[in-house]
Amino acid sequence: MYTGTLFILSAPSGAGKSSLINAYLKQQDQQLANISISHTTRSPRPGEKHGEHYYFVDHNEFELLIKQDAFIEYAKVFDHYYGTTKAAINQHLANGINVFLDIDWQGARQVRDKMPNAKSIFIIPPSLAELEKRLIKREQDSAEVIAKRMQKAKSEISHYNEYDYLIINDDFNYALNCLSAIIKAETLNTSKQILINKDILEQFIDQNKG
Ligand code: 5GP
Repeated sequence: MYTGTLFILSAPSGAGKSSLINAYLKQQDQQLANISISHTTRSPRPGEKHGEHYYFVDHNEFELLIKQDAFIEYAKVFDHYYGTTKAAINQHLANGINVFLDIDWQGARQVRDKMPNAKSIFIIPPSLAELEKRLIKREQDSAEVIAKRMQKAKSEISHYNEYDYLIINDDFNYALNCLSAIIKAETLNTSKQILINKDILEQFIDQNKG
C-alpha cells in the first residue's frame, strides 16, 4: 500500500522554517501534503489559533496525553512542553499524504527511532548575525527573549549532522527550491514509484514475459 512520507523539519527560530513549509504547502494539493499540528503548553501568540497553529493545552492535559501514550514524540522546549500526537500523522500517512513535522532536535531523535523511514531536514540561517537581524525584524520577542533564542540557536544548530538533508536559508526562493527538490526526490524513490506507477510498470513486466 502506498503511504505518505514523514518529513521532519528542524531549525533554530528565525531560520525561516515555518515560512518555507507554508510556502511549500501553498503550492501543493492538500491531498498530497499536510502539516502536523502539535500540542503545546505555551500560550498562544497574537494571531495564533487553537487547532490551526497548535493545540494549546494546560500542563494537566499534556500530562494526561503522555500517560495515554498519545504522543509519537514530545519534548520540553523553551520551558514548555511540545508534542506530536500519533493521531496527527498516522491517518494522513495511511492515506498516502506526506506529513511535515515542525519539531526540535529532541523530537526528531525520537521520531527517527520510531519511524526509520522518516526523512529529516535541517534549516540553518547563513550566519548568526543574520539570524539575530531576522529575530529583531519580526518584532515578536523582547530583547531578553531574543538573547535567549540566540543562545538556544547555537545548541540547536550543533545537531545539524543528525539530519538527512541540510538547507542554508540565505535566499528564500533558492531554499524553497531545495525543499521542493528533496520532497520530489523522495517521491521518485523506486520503492514509491513501484506503488505510484504500478500499472505502467506491470505492463513492462508482461511485455518481457511475452
Ligand atoms: P514556537 O514556540 O516558536 O512555536 O516553537 C518553538 C520550538 O518548538 C520550535 O523549534 C519548534 O520546531 C518546536 N516544536 C514545535 N512543535 C513541536 C513538537 O510537537 N515537538 C517538538 N519536539 N518540538 C516542537
